[in-house]
Amino acid sequence: MLFAEKRKEVLETARRMEKYGLVRMSGGNVSLRIGETVLVTPSAMPYDTMDIDDIVAVDLQGNILEGNRRPTSDLKAILYILNHMPEVNAVIHTHQPKAVALSLVADRLPIISTTMVDEVKGEVPVAPFTISSDEGMGIKTVEYAEKALCVILKNHGIMAYGKDLEQALCAAVYLEESCAVYLDALATGKEIAVLSREQAEAEDVPRGNYGQQ
Ligand SMILES: [Zn+2]
Repeated sequence: MLFAEKRKEVLETARRMEKYGLVRMSGGNVSLRIGETVLVTPSAMPYDTMDIDDIVAVDLQGNILEGNRRPTSDLKAILYILNHMPEVNAVIHTHQPKAVALSLVADRLPIISTTMVDEVKGEVPVAPFTISSDEGMGIKTVEYAEKALCVILKNHGIMAYGKDLEQALCAAVYLEESCAVYLDALATGKEIAVLSREQAEAEDVPRGNYGQQ
């Protein structure tokens, strides 16, 4: 089997995506690039009963290299992102509810917290609606991508990406937390205190005292 350990990582990421409330059942998908190969979750299979054999290996044109399942129906969109963002190796697509809610009422999530600087890596744009299971999702993601590690897809969900699965998952999880905070603040009807550019830049400096050595 190609990339057994990496397949396990993809499956564990998909299960964590569900654990953190970013998807339900078989919603969304997880992809990981390893050189010229991309491991993707299969179409419409619940993550809790999925096995590493169900993960599909494709090339960057979408030809199946190994696997008995149909790959995610968003494969074209994911490959568009990987083929246009060479620094990205991992893509996570979710239908996380707070981000979708925000997309109905706003065209971006401003930098409202230190978490957004540290984990999401900036303010997050909302890309206009495109139909699901279509390359347009990928085209809009690339077009709207800024410094942050995610783009919200209006009336649909999000694309989060990064150098590895952990970075992409963290961005998606903390984007959801940030959207929840922002929506709570918006619901008060009072003025929202976003971070200034200076405050965000000051936060974005490593201080050498976070995490384990
Ligand atoms: Zn979707």
